[in-house]
Amino acid sequence: LKVAKKHSSIDKPAKLQIDEDEHKYYVFDISRVELSKYIICMNDVSKYNERIVELENKASIDELTSCYNKNTISDYCKYWLEIKDFGLIVLDVDKFKNINDTYGHFIGDCILSDLSDLVKSHLHSDDLIGRFGGEEFIIAINTSVENLESIANRIRVLIELKEFIYDDIKLSITASLGCTYCSSGQDFDELFKVADEALYEAKNTGRNRVVFKR
Ligand code: GH3
Ligand code: MG
Ligand code: MG
Repeated sequence: LKVAKKHSSIDKPAKLQIDEDEHKYYVFDISRVELSKYIICMNDVSKYNERIVELENKASIDELTSCYNKNTISDYCKYWLEIKDFGLIVLDVDKFKNINDTYGHFIGDCILSDLSDLVKSHLHSDDLIGRFGGEEFIIAINTSVENLESIANRIRVLIELKEFIYDDIKLSITASLGCTYCSSGQDFDELFKVADEALYEAKNTGRNRVVFKR
């Protein structure tokens, strides 16, 4: 009865293991038939629950790259700022407009998707990456201030050396990275501004560069 009461609302379904690798979600309807007798009706809400999770993911994940979207990565960074220090990188693809103009928007999209996979494969599982808009990404890295610049440089070189191949098209890109170090308690918008200024400097001093600023 206690369990049934706890999971009587659609917002709080109970997750029950049906098979070795199958779970279903239920909510319970309780009706009292006698002083100490109840009928508990189990309603399978798995389909509904699936849809909710799907919608939640859709609201937090960028569709093209499967990275977090701007809102979600910002929220995570703000949360991290409450609990720890970390490195913040703003990455922007160099001269991406030329890629679209030369090869078309579809190839541009493929590159953004493959680029994000490439960077993700290089990050640790507890680091974060989000698409901040267009061809700009934010990366939050669990590292010390001493190591941040060399990690950013490794990402830069990884991108520079990657060959993106689509049928008979073979192309390379470069990216510029601005980074800063975040200490818990600092303001995310301020920190983003600093990293963005660093990115601006990287763009203005030749691109395919990493600039660290505090
Ligand atoms: P810079 O080195 O200064 O960053 O040059 P840039 O050409 O990368 O920068 P700019 O901001 O002038 O252009 C960004 C381009 O990114 C313009 C737009 O066509 C392209 N872009 C933005 N979002 C998408 C997208 O979702 N898909 C594709 N294919 N292109 C996109
Ligand atoms: Mg760009
Ligand atoms: Mg840009």
